[in-house]
Amino acid sequence: MQEKGNISIHTENIFPIIKKFLYSDNEIFLRELVSNAVDAVQKIKRLGALGQFNGEVGTPLVQVAVDKTAKTITISDNGLGMTAEEIKKYINQVAFSGASEFVEKFKDAKDANEIIGKFGLGFYSAFMVADLVEIQTLSYQEGAEPARWICDGSTEFEITEGTKTTRGTDIILHVNKDSEEFLEESKLQEILDKYAKFLPVPIKFGTKTESIEDGEDEEGKKKYQDVEVDNIINTTSPIWTKAPADLSDEDYLNFYRELYPFSEEPLFWIHLNVDYPFNLTGVLYFPKLKNDFEMQRNKIKLYSRQVFITDEVKDIVPEFLMLLHGVIDSPDIPLNVSRSFLQADSNVKKINNYITKKVADKLGELFAKDRKAYEDKWKDIGIFVKYGMISEEKFYDKAKDFALLGNTKNELFTLPEYKEKVAPLQTDKNGTVVYLYTNDASKQDAFIQSANKKDYDVLVLDSPIDNHFINQLEQKLEKTSIKRVDSSVADKLIEKDEVNEHILTDEQVKEVTTIFEKAITKPGLQVEVVALNPDELPVTITMDEFMRRMKDMAAMGGG
Ligand code: ADP
Ligand code: MG
Repeated sequence: MQEKGNISIHTENIFPIIKKFLYSDNEIFLRELVSNAVDAVQKIKRLGALGQFNGEVGTPLVQVAVDKTAKTITISDNGLGMTAEEIKKYINQVAFSGASEFVEKFKDAKDANEIIGKFGLGFYSAFMVADLVEIQTLSYQEGAEPARWICDGSTEFEITEGTKTTRGTDIILHVNKDSEEFLEESKLQEILDKYAKFLPVPIKFGTKTESIEDGEDEEGKKKYQDVEVDNIINTTSPIWTKAPADLSDEDYLNFYRELYPFSEEPLFWIHLNVDYPFNLTGVLYFPKLKNDFEMQRNKIKLYSRQVFITDEVKDIVPEFLMLLHGVIDSPDIPLNVSRSFLQADSNVKKINNYITKKVADKLGELFAKDRKAYEDKWKDIGIFVKYGMISEEKFYDKAKDFALLGNTKNELFTLPEYKEKVAPLQTDKNGTVVYLYTNDASKQDAFIQSANKKDYDVLVLDSPIDNHFINQLEQKLEKTSIKRVDSSVADKLIEKDEVNEHILTDEQVKEVTTIFEKAITKPGLQVEVVALNPDELPVTITMDEFMRRMKDMAAMGGG
């Protein structure tokens, strides 16, 4: 058997284009070839289960081996193998047409680089690192002959009789000059760790030495012996593939430690599991937030059938949940671009909504189940909740029942509770309920004291997100306004109908005001002579709420 031929595809010169796209992402060749090997193994298992294959399925195994002298990387599997006919069909047609389709679709796309990094190119990506790719394969089918295919990435190929004696496929990459870094074990190990750590079939990469117990010596001390064992680089059943009922808290924590070594323990987690109208599993963790938010973003890893795709989940996870950690796995986000990138798009929005809902439900559940425990966590989860309420209408609607407001006395209230608490005293003459808050309790202490003296409550809203949160609450809460406690004197902030008598004469008020105004040089500040009774602050210097917000916005870079 010998056949030379031409692969019929529309774009003759796809390779240079692909090479350009893939330049920075060429390591994905290993992800693609290993996942093909995993697919092949799973297919033979399925055929066995369906009774369409009656031979020995054996122990599923994928192996990655490197030969520095020959400059080859070999990816082997004991999957279903291919006949020569199937190579022509699947490799020459599927793989190559997938590649040319990809080029057709994305050669003009601005963000082609991003797309390719996420979705790869299947078998064809082998040519990114190899100037010659060889397939040695033996099909599971009765009477099948071993076949060998060889191709240099051009449209010409050669099929001859192969040498494989056991079922399965070897993909042999003759590594090109520019890609010799991939002949380093450490490099391959790193890529396997990144992409293949949770694949469902054991992946062997060389061997490793392990110390095993080997009886006791004369003094009764345990003896150990070094043995060479297979270096299996992956966990085949990561927790997100299991049922929550079968998992303990310790399982979730261990997985977290595996994903993010040296991180603080997460606060809690959510196990995602849905199969209609899209398929998605995963575990999302609420981390303890540090001050440096940016560092903690983009920690969610996206998988497709246990193959790592990316940790850029921008479009899939709602913006406000980008601070969460964990794993999302969805086959509905296609691995191979030939299955259409756009098709995924319609799912993306649904996935986004689903995650938002799950997170809201979980928070609501924690709140309802154990309010005390929930309040203890509020310091850490408050940021997420507020951020979510600001950025997602749907989330606001759910969170308004479990978002908390804290006051200067360290008490926490839900939004309805708080309104009920302050409405009797803090309703002004127009019927608007006025919430007072401080963003710096130590500096504004005199104002807080003064407000408290009138039995007004003062909220603490001092995190960077609170400015936006206050704006959002004002828009959402009916007949409510929120004022900073030092933006004017308490009586002005909550204006009542009754007139208060000043203990100074109008003349005296004017005099004192002038003295202070002369002494103040900063713009935007107002002097107010307060003293309505002897134990009040005599004079306050304030900044109008509107002016202050403008200033804060400017300081936050337009916020
Ligand atoms: P995809 O995996 O998306 O189908 P690929 O380009 O990765 O696209 O692979 C093309 C086809 O080649 C596969 O669908 C499969 O039929 C065949 N194939 C690739 N690798 C193997 C393998 N190791 N064993 C058996 N068949 C394979
Ligand atoms: Mg593939």
